[in-house]
Amino acid sequence: MNQPETIALIKKLYEKENSKKFIIHLIRAFLPLGKAKILEKWHTDKKPKCCLCASKIIPVDELMKAMLDKELLDADLQYIIAKHKGGSKEKKDIAYEIIKDERPMNKFISDRKRGYIGDKSDKLLCTDCQLSLYSFTSSQILSGDGTLNWVFQNKIINKNE
Ligand SMILES: [Zn+2]
Repeated sequence: MNQPETIALIKKLYEKENSKKFIIHLIRAFLPLGKAKILEKWHTDKKPKCCLCASKIIPVDELMKAMLDKELLDADLQYIIAKHKGGSKEKKDIAYEIIKDERPMNKFISDRKRGYIGDKSDKLLCTDCQLSLYSFTSSQILSGDGTLNWVFQNKIINKNE
C-alpha cells in the first residue's frame, strides 16, 4: 500500500461509525509524532504486523542480532564487493554466483518494515502508516474536524495522556 492508499483507508475507517473509535485510538496512541516508540522487541508468537496495512514489522533487536551475525555480515560484504567490483570474466562469474540471489541482509529483512508501538496501546503501525495517520489527522484538524480538534485540545490539556 502506498501513502495515498493508506490515507484513503484511514479516512474510510474514520468515516464509518463502528471503526471511527479505532482511528481515534490510533491517533491518541501514535500522535503527535515521537509519542509512539519504535518496536524494540516482540515477545508473542504472533508475527508483528501493521494494524492498518498488515505489513510485517521487524523489531530493532532482530536487526541488531543480524548486525552482530558474523556469517550474515560476511555474506553481505561479499555481496557488496562482488556487486561493485569489475574484473576478468572469471571474477565476474564468481561475482555472479554470489549475487545471483538477492543481497543477504535484504533477504534477512525480507519484506519487513520498521514500525512503532502505540503509547498505552498494543497496536503496531509501520513507519509509512504512521506518517499517513499524521497527514490524515493534520488535514482533518485544518479542515475544522470538531472531533479531532477536541481530541487534540484534550491531549494538550492532559499532557500525560
Ligand atoms: Zn502499515
